[in-house]
Amino acid sequence: MKSIRRPRKKILMGVLMMAMMAASTTGLAQAGEFEGREKLKAHSQEFRARVDEVTEGVYAAIGYSASNVTLIQGDTGSIIVDTSANPADAQAIVAAFGDRLVRPVYAIIYTHNHPDHTGGATVFAAGEKPDIYSHKLMITAEPHTGRGRRDGGDAFGTALPDAQFINAGTQLEYGRLTAHTREGFLTPTNTFDGQEDTLTIDGVRIQLIFTPGEADEHISVWLPDRKTLIAGDVFLKTFPNIAPLRGLPTRPAEKWIASLDKLIALKPEHVVPGHMGVLNGAVNINDALTAYRDGIQFVLDRTMEGIRAGRTPDELLQQIKLPQRLAEHPYLQEFYGTVPWAVRGIYAQKAGWFDGNPTHIFPMTDQERGKRMLQLAGGKDRLLASARASLASGDFQWAAEQVDNILALEPHNRDALEIKIKALRELGERQMNATARNYYLTVAMTLEKQL
Ligand SMILES: [Zn+2]
Repeated sequence: MKSIRRPRKKILMGVLMMAMMAASTTGLAQAGEFEGREKLKAHSQEFRARVDEVTEGVYAAIGYSASNVTLIQGDTGSIIVDTSANPADAQAIVAAFGDRLVRPVYAIIYTHNHPDHTGGATVFAAGEKPDIYSHKLMITAEPHTGRGRRDGGDAFGTALPDAQFINAGTQLEYGRLTAHTREGFLTPTNTFDGQEDTLTIDGVRIQLIFTPGEADEHISVWLPDRKTLIAGDVFLKTFPNIAPLRGLPTRPAEKWIASLDKLIALKPEHVVPGHMGVLNGAVNINDALTAYRDGIQFVLDRTMEGIRAGRTPDELLQQIKLPQRLAEHPYLQEFYGTVPWAVRGIYAQKAGWFDGNPTHIFPMTDQERGKRMLQLAGGKDRLLASARASLASGDFQWAAEQVDNILALEPHNRDALEIKIKALRELGERQMNATARNYYLTVAMTLEKQL
């Protein structure tokens, strides 16, 4: 909004607001303002449905479900890595594989417990009683869905209308079209403990490698004779979601880095990630895996340095930016995780909740602060007018923060809710991060129902 001068006369404010609303609906907004959203839309291409031949006898079904399914042909049958979100998706994938899926299926390997990877096993097994492989930790792994939808938000955008939904960060949809169920889940029959398991299944040499990061029990699958890595979710085409919005603990950055070091050392020539497209070529792969590792390492190191130097999370959020080489890397764009959330998550994990400012030892409640902020602003009407002006000038975060003071006292205040809804929608539309966009827009939708 830099091209529009802020008018001081109130009479112009309404005109300006109308102009801005028109601009945002007719695409006349300032160039670059919605760049993040356009990048996120372009990222949806990663989830286009297709079966890719990874290398001889290895096929990846991408975009038919929330996650990828890999088919490995053996001497007389097949091996499946991950099974999609549910039996219906798995059936579509079986159809897409066609006669490349040679029966029987001797083995199914789960990279980790998440339901989008484990929900369709029965369809691939088709009563053939394959061995089901996973890390031993998967038996006790907690389901990953998160601890509830705080504030009515939803990082996956499950309830958003189609017109507002772009993608769910690592997938085109997450439970929007077909549910994530445990209906098609088969319990692992062959688990291993520790770092590695070496197998030969139907003539195919396979190494299962313990690679915790996205999940504690996570493994990657290495086919040494085909230089092919089925990485799972430890390597995706997005900045990793180290500290997700959806109510999960921060993922362990050091373990994630160690996992990537193991994968880099394999020198793969083909990689199938758990979501998004296949990557080919030893040089490309080394570059992407190394950048991914370096991105996490950079954020971890700078955060730890900041903690030791007594910096607050707020200071670190302003200071820690990826260096240009990493910031521009296609595998570190913030479609799913973000650098600031990683900084916050690592700070809390390593140094606790307290930011070091004694004012925050026993801070006021939101209600107490709201009461005082209203007094300071000269009353509710003035605070609302100020928040409306912020909205009109494009200062959406400040608009939301101002009305939060009123909503802390009066959760159903219509004027405050209207401002907050507009602010959240504007913030959401400017996001490149799918989970932030989905959260903003879902809360806006939830609040609108309260009007
Ligand atoms: Zn996944």
